[in-house]
Amino acid sequence: MLDVQKIRKDFPILNRKVNGKPLIYFDNAATSQTPQQVIDVIVDYYTNYNANIHRGVHSLSQEATDAYEQARVKIQKHFNAKHSHEIIYTSGTTHGINLIANGFSSLLKKGDEIIVSALEHHSNIVPWQMLCERTGAVLKVIPMNQNGELVLSKFDSLLNENTKLVFVNHISNALGTINPIEYIIEKAHDIGAAVLVDGAQSCPHIKPDVQALDVDFYVCSAHKICGPTGVGMLYGKEEWLNKLPPYQGGGEMIAEVSFEKTTYADLPHKFEAGTPNVCGGIAFGAALDYMNTIGFDNIAAYENELLDYATQQLLQIEGLKIYGTAKQKTSVISFNVGNIHPYDIGTILDKMGIAVRTGHHCAQPIMDFYKIPGTIRASFMFYNTKEEIDVFIASLKKAIMMLS
Ligand SMILES: *Cc1c(COP(=O)(O)O)cnc(C)c1O
Repeated sequence: MLDVQKIRKDFPILNRKVNGKPLIYFDNAATSQTPQQVIDVIVDYYTNYNANIHRGVHSLSQEATDAYEQARVKIQKHFNAKHSHEIIYTSGTTHGINLIANGFSSLLKKGDEIIVSALEHHSNIVPWQMLCERTGAVLKVIPMNQNGELVLSKFDSLLNENTKLVFVNHISNALGTINPIEYIIEKAHDIGAAVLVDGAQSCPHIKPDVQALDVDFYVCSAHKICGPTGVGMLYGKEEWLNKLPPYQGGGEMIAEVSFEKTTYADLPHKFEAGTPNVCGGIAFGAALDYMNTIGFDNIAAYENELLDYATQQLLQIEGLKIYGTAKQKTSVISFNVGNIHPYDIGTILDKMGIAVRTGHHCAQPIMDFYKIPGTIRASFMFYNTKEEIDVFIASLKKAIMMLS
């Protein structure tokens, strides 16, 4: 079981006040908070062994290189990739998706088809639109139903011999829906299409096994898993990564350079041009260690309790509507109250020390589907408590009174 009071002591930020009130942080789907164990790793790096990696013969460079490469192995083990060179460091999910979209430019031709889901984040829509413009490929969309679930029968009928790629998020950041990626991967593979899963929202809650999933590419960001901003990872099957051309040119990604011809470095360095976020990579590894010490089964069980508890209480409030009522969902609740603008409620909650997200959550097509401008979104992590939810509900009721 999970000792939440002990866990909360690991997060110094949870002690601060906002507008004179104790902080209640319910914007975890945007970014998670950082435990002292990870902050210590960052401070230690800059205090003791900050150096550029892979190039120095000197000791600091060796130490930094070792720590950075050990973190890659931690990431490999966490996601159960077959090889550590199948883990590419990125600056985050968005970078990982763009890397793949760019790589497929050279593999697609006019008339090929790419399938995305109606539940995507903007970072998972725009790169494919750009790829389609470059190649003449066509973008198809798996529709969703009123509960915020993908309509799988429609997905089945979109698949055909022209389908080359399927892109879907594991969990929707706007609604919390857990998508049936096992089914999607199997069906896509039946017709020979590759699958990229956006794991930005699932990694904090679920420990994915990329080999068991048989997924071709998987991307996530460290800052949603108690790590720092500006670093993430792309997993790709070795055969796929060998097929794709490099993304950016620069130092580190080359084997030999002359003005006549340049040969590229082996994996993973082929995709890692320039000086990377060394400290970020090391801290990413530390964040995974931290999460694994708590245990993903414990995390999921506890967060489900929080989700049920908050959902029950919210549904008692008159005029409140929850968007995203999928059978399989994580601890994200999107809602509106009557005709009150989400922004007004968010502003009053902030005055009371409560951080929620308001707006379209980088998922405007979902908002268009429900014909709303946006929602209020409360998202929970394992360091949140039922007592915080009680304060949130009481504050929300006050805000509604003030606004109606
Ligand atoms: C946060 C998020 C992203 C973007 O992540 P960045 O770290 O901003 O690159 C993409 N997809 C989903 C589902 C997300 O939740």
